Amino acid sequence: MLSIGLTGGIGSGKSTIARVFEILGVPVYYADKRARWLMENNPDLRESLIKHFGVATYQEESLNRKHLANLVFNNPDNLKLLNSIVHPFSIRDSKEWMKAQQTDYAIKEAALIYESGTQADFDLIIGVFAPKPLRIKRTMQRDKITREQVIERMDNQLDPDIARKLCNIVIDNDEAKLITPKLVALHNQIIQKAQKT
Ligand code: ATP
Repeated sequence: MLSIGLTGGIGSGKSTIARVFEILGVPVYYADKRARWLMENNPDLRESLIKHFGVATYQEESLNRKHLANLVFNNPDNLKLLNSIVHPFSIRDSKEWMKAQQTDYAIKEAALIYESGTQADFDLIIGVFAPKPLRIKRTMQRDKITREQVIERMDNQLDPDIARKLCNIVIDNDEAKLITPKLVALHNQIIQKAQKT
C-alpha cells in the first residue's frame, strides 16, 4: 500500500482534487477536518488545550472556536503553541488511519506537509498549484474574506516555487484544461506503481 501526501497552498484546490480521488475509490484523510474533530473529541487533547488556553476553550462540551481564534489571531506565539499541541495528536491519528487502509494507495490531504516536517511519512507527495491571483479569488469567494486576509494566510505557507521542486508529482489546477482526465491517468499510474512494490 502506498502512502500518498496531497498538498498545496490555500486555494490551490487540493480538497477539490482529493474529492475526485475519493470518487475513484481512494480513501482520503482530510487533515484539517480531522484535526477539528480531534479537538472536539479526543479527551487528552481537550485537557491539554484547556490547560494552555483556559476553560473557555470549550463551551458546553463544544470547542469555542471564537475564543481560540481570538487568542491566535495576530499572535504568532499562541498560534505556534496551538499547532504544537494539536500536531502530535493529528500525526498519530493520521498514521494509524493510513496503516488501517487496505487499498493500493491512500491519500492524506494536508496544507502543511513540508512545513511540519512530515514528508518522510509518504511514499509520494503530490503538489497542487495554481496562479496566485486565482488562488486569492477562489479563497475570497469560498471563505467570504478579504484579499488581505488570504494573503496573510498565504504568507504562513511554503513558497510555491520551493514546494514545486520538492513534490514528486505536480498538478497544475489553473482551470486552463479539464483536470479530471489528468487525475484519472495519475490514479492509474499510482495503482500500477503500488502493485509493483
Ligand atoms: P484550503 O487550503 O484553503 O483548504 P484548498 O487547496 O483545499 O484550500 P479548495 O477548497 O479545493 O482549495 O478550492 C478552493 C476553491 O476553488 C473552492 O471553492 C473550489 O470549488 C474552487 N476550485 C478548486 N479547483 C477548481 C477548478 N479546477 N475549477 C473551478 N473551481 C475550482
